[in-house]
Amino acid sequence: MKRLRYFLCAMSIFSFLFGGCSKQPAPQSKAPPQTLPLGEISFSQLDITERFADDLHLKPADWIATVPLNKSAPNGKGLPPVGASDDEVYKAGEKLSKLRESIPVPNDGVYCPVCHIANIELTKLHTPCPKCGRPLLKFGWD
Ligand SMILES: [Zn+2]
Repeated sequence: MKRLRYFLCAMSIFSFLFGGCSKQPAPQSKAPPQTLPLGEISFSQLDITERFADDLHLKPADWIATVPLNKSAPNGKGLPPVGASDDEVYKAGEKLSKLRESIPVPNDGVYCPVCHIANIELTKLHTPCPKCGRPLLKFGWD
């Protein structure tokens, strides 16, 4: 948590400095974050890791537990309802992963939305989950 707070703090200082010093026109409104082609989808994966930058200390052979997003965002678009069956969850995750796979993001890894585990090696994409055998989906760490 401390690290995350420090990061956010640093970010706001940076944006303040850049916003204050730059003489570019129209620096007033913050540029909107890059959105996915389908405007309605707010998530590109079903799970997140508990801590910021969790991937940095993982080795390629390590698997880390993930937390389902629908617990904290029950009405999140694209997320399955809490209590959805494994197949429903996976189907939802697969849809989001396809979207994410169309956008190259450095440092993306893989995860299984059913077993809630993630790994930093993108080369494992679509290979069977070590627990349930479903093809692994694309996972972003932040
Ligand atoms: Zn699995």
